[in-house]
Amino acid sequence: MGTFCSVVKFENLQELKRLCHWGPVIALGVIAICSTMAMIDSVLWYWPLHTTGGSVNFIMLINWTVMILYNYFTAMFVGPGFVPLGWKPENSQDSVYLQYCKVCQAYKAPRSHHCRKCNRCVMKMDHHCPWINNCCGYQNHASFTLFLLLAPLGCIHAAFIFVMTMYTQLYNRLSFGWNTVKIDVSAARRDPLPIIPFGLAAFAATLFALGLALGTTIAVGMLFFIQMKIILRNKTSIESWIEEKAKDRIQYYQLDEVFVFPYDMGSRWKNFKQVFTWSGVPEGDGLDWPIREGCHQYSLTIEQLKQKADKRVRSVRYKVIEDYSGTCCPLNRGIKTFFTSPCTEEPRIRLQKGEFILATRGLRYWLYGDKILDDSILEGVSRIRGWFPRNCVEKCPCDAETDQAPEGEKKNR
Ligand SMILES: [Zn+2]
Ligand SMILES: [Zn+2]
Repeated sequence: MGTFCSVVKFENLQELKRLCHWGPVIALGVIAICSTMAMIDSVLWYWPLHTTGGSVNFIMLINWTVMILYNYFTAMFVGPGFVPLGWKPENSQDSVYLQYCKVCQAYKAPRSHHCRKCNRCVMKMDHHCPWINNCCGYQNHASFTLFLLLAPLGCIHAAFIFVMTMYTQLYNRLSFGWNTVKIDVSAARRDPLPIIPFGLAAFAATLFALGLALGTTIAVGMLFFIQMKIILRNKTSIESWIEEKAKDRIQYYQLDEVFVFPYDMGSRWKNFKQVFTWSGVPEGDGLDWPIREGCHQYSLTIEQLKQKADKRVRSVRYKVIEDYSGTCCPLNRGIKTFFTSPCTEEPRIRLQKGEFILATRGLRYWLYGDKILDDSILEGVSRIRGWFPRNCVEKCPCDAETDQAPEGEKKNR
């Protein structure tokens, strides 16, 4: 964790580095291929510029590209907005309701979460999006969602151009015989003839671009609907998750409380206006949030603290009996451990004989937990967290009275 500290000072340079990642490279590549091919196809073979329709079509294509790129880069470079380093609530007594982030040396403002990839606490974090190589959160929620809307619309227009180009070009070359269909590849019978004939390479490139455009329309279009749902309910994916766990917790202990999600303003339009404004800047400052009647300013963070405490109660202490190097699929821990390595991006942690671990959840051959470090674990500030093979540890005899293994992955979430 310490290695990241130097990065923060060069934040602006760091922003450009966001481009050097498979996500932006692929996303920008798809945008470049689809828009370039759509323009080439329409000008050369489908709808020439000297017609009014052709010009309008061309201008619309440029327009899509500009708007898509604008929202894409805004989402990427404006970013979600980070909780200021060292932030604390205005009223210092309120800090008891908040979790503390040791990396950012700050309290976690309501709705913020620490992103391990961005290495900062992100305001109203929804998720870390690899395609923009940044988090989706408070500041870029609108531009991110607009990108998700515009990209499929632009792709539908491009796909239309691709289909029409291939159709007209092939149709002009097709000759129907008695039982045969012949394709005349030599030249198109089009008036006026295109400057460059629509050859096999152009056909292949157009077909490829059509595939990309249709794939993007479906994939990104679905993401758009997910984000709209999130905006209209004013509840991020992480918050849905917390709400889910709140219900579980209340049910588990058969408590007499009801968890009411505090940020849903009661109407879709009001929720919508929180994110989309004419100025382009979302409402508020990303730290204080308007809440619905009957809720406490810290309803959500208090619930988070309860869940955290509950997790600690339900966790089990283990002692490390064998060293483990921290590799994903260890060769020396048995074949079942090797093949059942958890399919997640969560880290593995290195174990050394004699260390203690607090496991919070587990699979049959793997456990997930926190290393118990001298005294800091109680504040939950400095943590080494991750997966390790079950057969490297044994349950602590001292905990015999609370002798219950962590529940399965699903139950304990
Ligand atoms: Zn943080
Ligand atoms: Zn992130």
